[in-house]
Amino acid sequence: MRQTAPPAPPRIIPRAQHTVSRSHISPNALRVLYRLRDAGFQAFLVGGCVRDLLLGLDPKDFDVATDALPEQVKRLFRNCRLVGRRFRLAHVFFGQETIEVATFRATSAPPEGEEPLEGEEAGEEADGEEGEILDLGGPVTEPRAARAEAAHAPLGEIQEGDLDPDAVRMFDETGRILRDNVYGTIDNDVWRRDFTANALYYNVADFSIWDYVGGVEDIAARRLRLIGDPQTRYREDPVRMLRAARFEAKLGFELDAQTAEPLGTLRDLLGGVPPARLFDEMLKLFLTGHGARSLEVLRRRGLLAALLPNVEVYLAAHPGGLVEKLLHKGLANTDARIVAGRPVSPTFLLAVLLYGPIAGIIEAMPPNRWHELSAILDACDQAVREAQAHIAIPRRFALGVREMFAMQPRLEYPRGRRALRLLTHPKFRAGYDLLLLRADFGLASAETAGWWTKLQGASEQDREQMVDSLVPERAGAGRKSPRRRSGRRGRRTPNAS
Ligand code: ATP
Ligand code: MG
Repeated sequence: MRQTAPPAPPRIIPRAQHTVSRSHISPNALRVLYRLRDAGFQAFLVGGCVRDLLLGLDPKDFDVATDALPEQVKRLFRNCRLVGRRFRLAHVFFGQETIEVATFRATSAPPEGEEPLEGEEAGEEADGEEGEILDLGGPVTEPRAARAEAAHAPLGEIQEGDLDPDAVRMFDETGRILRDNVYGTIDNDVWRRDFTANALYYNVADFSIWDYVGGVEDIAARRLRLIGDPQTRYREDPVRMLRAARFEAKLGFELDAQTAEPLGTLRDLLGGVPPARLFDEMLKLFLTGHGARSLEVLRRRGLLAALLPNVEVYLAAHPGGLVEKLLHKGLANTDARIVAGRPVSPTFLLAVLLYGPIAGIIEAMPPNRWHELSAILDACDQAVREAQAHIAIPRRFALGVREMFAMQPRLEYPRGRRALRLLTHPKFRAGYDLLLLRADFGLASAETAGWWTKLQGASEQDREQMVDSLVPERAGAGRKSPRRRSGRRGRRTPNAS
């Protein structure tokens, strides 16, 4: 929304009249705020952290807004790096915690600044060497002693080079903002924020909250309302549609009618969003502790069809089916892990999301191919390719999904010593978790799943015995082992529907 008339002054809620206490704010965020303030700048906490503090939730991260320019912020903190090409931001690092400091901006482009500015980062993988395990929602680590030190440049003074030469605003033909580096004041900054609940500023000067848009009232009413004209705001940045769904799921807020109304008609604009950004949004939807609710909201709002059409098509064709139940349970299990502070993996998430499309592709093949490894791999590749048309799935996750599915027949029909070797496969745990999930819905044998559970808990010696009893001659006898040679013909179809 482009603001023309001078904005109304904010409602200022003094410290005595709100519940945001410094004891709930990250000490590192406070350090950043104090240092900016002491250098003569305005400094506010802004966005989701203020919203969450008002709701009594633990904020995921703390964002700071200031009138200091990025270069001025950089000179204040030695542990600071400038990032973002579309929108220049300062990141101040404290051990594992990063405080994002954004200069007030004049227009309503989205603030994400994922693209690193400095050349040496260009080839880095987004989530580091470990790659596989993401911990998006985990607790903030203990703050290290502050390493921030004032740099030598004079403060508060604009120097040559501080002003961004790219300070232009560009839109594409659908109204999407492509570039926006126009700095402004807090009065301007507020109008570029998405929802009223995300547009509250906590002022470190006197610990008051500034509310230009009725956000405090909306939070109290648990209402999610876009600032400005919803059509325009979604056109500027279609990802706001996914953010609406995410906050609806995460906060349990009600979408205001005008905010909800354009979703059905504008969802296809998500097709114009860079796939890497959609992948990031997908992780935020499904790997931050409310994935099961996100799926429900995305479907109800018609947005899954734009994000992962093959998943929507499958679910719509099999309403209430086993795969839908499996997906729901897989997401709920993942949510529980996140709430318990355990690590989660995008590979497992993708495997359960794509379970339906993969099963659908296999079942469209002649039944004699259903249990061939090549059929399973082809189906994985096709389902991933379909998803790739919308979201950029990093290769290692796509390969992980393949490995998890390729492992299923080996898990369902374990063979002698090979079973022991499978235990050391890097994807064993994910494959086994998928087997358990399938067994929960009768898509794999519960007896076999239980055998693997027992095998993992067994001593070396007992393991040997367990696998020795799988040798075909003995396995056939007495049905003690999970291997049922005669069962091969009667194997389940991939979705048993
Ligand atoms: P979370 O709890 O997921 O961190 P958040 O509200 O903090 O939620 P962020 O993505 O961290 O979301 O963004 C921080 C703030 O930046 C938001 O609260 C909002 O004010 C603003 N913002 C983020 N993305 C957009 C966007 N696409 N359009 C407009 N404003 C945005
Ligand atoms: Mg945030």
